[in-house]
Amino acid sequence: MKGFNTRAVHEGQTPEKSTGAVTPPIYQTSTFAQEAPAKHLGYEYTRADNPNYQNLETALSSLEGAKYGTVFGSGCGAETAVLSILKSGDHVIAGNDLYGGTHRLFTKVFANFGISFDFVDATQPKNFEKALRKETKLIWIETPTNPLLRLTDISAVCEIVRKKKIYVVVDNTFATSYLQRPLGLGADVVIHSTTKYIGGHSDVIGGCAITNNKELSEKLQFARKSMGLNPSPFDCWLAQRGVKTLGLRMERHQHNAMEVARFFVEHPKISKVYYPGLPSHPQYKLASKQMAGFGGMVSAEFRLSVEQTKKLISSFSVFTLAESLGGVESLVCHPATMTHASVPKKEREKTGVTDSLVRFSVGIEDTEDLLEDLEDALAKFRI
Ligand SMILES: *Cc1c(COP(=O)(O)O)cnc(C)c1O
Repeated sequence: MKGFNTRAVHEGQTPEKSTGAVTPPIYQTSTFAQEAPAKHLGYEYTRADNPNYQNLETALSSLEGAKYGTVFGSGCGAETAVLSILKSGDHVIAGNDLYGGTHRLFTKVFANFGISFDFVDATQPKNFEKALRKETKLIWIETPTNPLLRLTDISAVCEIVRKKKIYVVVDNTFATSYLQRPLGLGADVVIHSTTKYIGGHSDVIGGCAITNNKELSEKLQFARKSMGLNPSPFDCWLAQRGVKTLGLRMERHQHNAMEVARFFVEHPKISKVYYPGLPSHPQYKLASKQMAGFGGMVSAEFRLSVEQTKKLISSFSVFTLAESLGGVESLVCHPATMTHASVPKKEREKTGVTDSLVRFSVGIEDTEDLLEDLEDALAKFRI
C-alpha cells in the first residue's frame, strides 16, 4: 500500500476520462440521464449518490485503512446516520465529555425515540464494562475530547465488547486519520466532522462515516438517501481538495501546538495547560502509544477573572475569536460562554470546563507570530 500522503493526493482523483481533467470536476447536478428506465451509469439522483461523494469516500476510507466510506452533509449528519441503525429500546454508552452537538443529538433527539444513553468517564475503560446492559448496542467514544483533550484507550474498550454484538464508534475528528486509526484498534465505525481538519480551510461543513463492515456501510448509504443527510457535490469537492494536504497541515499544526503548549507551561499567568503531547498530561503514555502525534488543539486555564479572560481572547491579532477548529488559521474560543454555554455551570465545572478555560485551535501560521500574539495580549493583564 502506498504512503499516507500519496493516497491523500491520488485516491479518488483519477483524471476524468472524457476530457483528461487532472482534477475531477464538480458534478453539480441533481439527476442523471438514463438510457432506458433503470439503465444508467450507476447514478440516479444526487440525494442518493454522486461522483463527488464517491471520490471523497475513496480517499477518506483509504486514509482510515478501511473498505467503505459514506459522506454526509455534516458531522452531525454522519452521527444521525449511525444512530439511525438503532431501534427503540436500544442502549448506548458514551463518554461524558462529548462534543456538545453530539450530546444534544443523543439527549434531545434520539432519546425521544426510545433509545437510552449512559455517559461515563471514558478515561477508564472499565466504566464502559460497568455500564453494559443486555440492551447495549453501541459504544460511542471521542478521543481526544473537546476541550479538555482527555483520551480513551480504544483497544481496551474494544476488547471489552469484542465477543458481543455491540458496535464501537469512534469520533476521530480531533486526531484525524493522519494521527489515529481506530479501525485498526478494533473499532467498527469511525466518524469525522470533515468541517474541521479534513476540509481544513474553514469553508465547508461535512461529515463521513467509515467502516470495514459491508452491511453497516449499506445501512449508512440507505440512511443518507432516506433521511436527506447528503452533502453537496461542491462541498465534497472542496473537502477533497483539503484532504490532499491533510498530512502536511497536521505536521505543521502539531508543531505549532507543541510550541504554544510549551510557552503556556512557562507563563506565570497560566495555571494549567492541556495538551496530550506534554509529559505532564495524565495520559501522555496512552497518547504516545495510540496516536502518531499529538494534534493541533491546546487548552489552558488563565489566572484571570472571567471578564479579563473574555477581554484577553478578544484582543489577539493573529488568533481569531470563533467557534470551530482545524482550519489553517488559528482560532481561540471560550468554551464556558461559547461551545458549552448550554451546559449548566455546575455540571460544566464538574467536568473541568471552568470559566477561565480557553481553547486554542493552533493554525499553520509562523510559530513566532503566534507566540508573539499570545505574549503581547497577555502582557496587558496584571495578576
Ligand atoms: C464539529 C464536531 C462535530 C460535529 O460536526 P459538524 O460538521 O459541525 O456537524 C462532531 N464531533 C466533533 C469532535 C466535532 O468537533
